[in-house]
Amino acid sequence: MMDPTSLPPIPQTDPKAGYLAHKPAIDAAIARVLASGWYIGGAEVAGFEAGFAAFAGLDHAIGCANGTDALVLALRGLGIGRGDRVATVSHTAVATVAAIELAGAEPVLVDIDPATYTLDPASLARTLAALPGIRAVIPVHLYGHPADLPAILELARAHDLKVIEDCSQSHGAMLDGRMTGGFGDVACFSLYPTKNLGALGDGGVLATKDPVLAERIRALCEYGWRERYISDIAGLNSRLDPIQAAILSAKLPHLAADNARRRAIAERYDRGLAGLTPALTLPVRRPGAVPVYHQYVVRHADRDALRQALGRQGIGTNIHYPMPVHLQPAYQGRIVLDPKGLPETERAATAILSLPMYPGLADDQVDRVVVALRESMAVARVA
Ligand SMILES: *Cc1c(COP(=O)(O)O)cnc(C)c1O
Repeated sequence: MMDPTSLPPIPQTDPKAGYLAHKPAIDAAIARVLASGWYIGGAEVAGFEAGFAAFAGLDHAIGCANGTDALVLALRGLGIGRGDRVATVSHTAVATVAAIELAGAEPVLVDIDPATYTLDPASLARTLAALPGIRAVIPVHLYGHPADLPAILELARAHDLKVIEDCSQSHGAMLDGRMTGGFGDVACFSLYPTKNLGALGDGGVLATKDPVLAERIRALCEYGWRERYISDIAGLNSRLDPIQAAILSAKLPHLAADNARRRAIAERYDRGLAGLTPALTLPVRRPGAVPVYHQYVVRHADRDALRQALGRQGIGTNIHYPMPVHLQPAYQGRIVLDPKGLPETERAATAILSLPMYPGLADDQVDRVVVALRESMAVARVA
């Protein structure tokens, strides 16, 4: 067999490949903005917002500075802040929880369903029954897999909760024939470079079908202005940069194909790794879900050894995320949790591993990852 170390390493993600795949269009887009003399807002931002709203199947899209701000703006736009509690998961990017505190509200963290790694409606129901003051819920479509929206929406209706979908990993994911992001009151997307739709820098966007909410969020983004220099409400500054908007407009037409490629990669992993179950747990798909595989996450009892063995064979991996938010130094001991604790969240963090996943990953690279995993599990005798 060929020495695997002689082959180029395979990164876990590769945002530069996303640039090179569309380099002429992106270079032209940047040059166009530079030549225009218009460096804040304007036609490039409006053009991206219109294109993204059409993609999301929602009437209104509002660009902002990043995904964290999108969540803050959504909460503030819905009038949620001081004195309010907001439920979400601990198994997420820290930004989801940070945004709740940045909006002045108090996070309440619930457990996940261990099969899909998304919010467990039973944990949410228990927490709503035990704790007063919860006014909103933020389901996260983690790894590009839709959360259990029907169950979450039913609880939201019963408890009069606003629903903010954190779509930062799920641009284009569908559930029951509908695009995620259109189920709740408002959807928030990060456009961080490695996301399914990524800028070449920071960016974020919100989408909603509610025209009043959209108008309020748009004002909040720019000092609370409805009329220039007159702050109607107390706002902030969170704008999508026109250069990033132009880059995103060049990339948006390829998002559906990129997502399809991610699904094809996931299916190739599924087939190649089927023989390694049950020691290796593969991603599962909720019935009715069309995920977009922001990550392809496996689970193994000896995750750290497996990760090291893969690294020795040039296979890049990552852990999303190694420490639940409620156990991180900034949050530990002061965050309200499901009264039964978060056992599935804590268990998942010890065993999850994200394999290489990005649209530019070639079939033969996927196959190399599969072979390396097989060999790692045999050699480490962790199977
Ligand atoms: C990336 C991400 C965010 C934060 O986005 P930024 O653009 O980095 O602020 C929020 N939530 C989730 C689930 C994410 O993956």
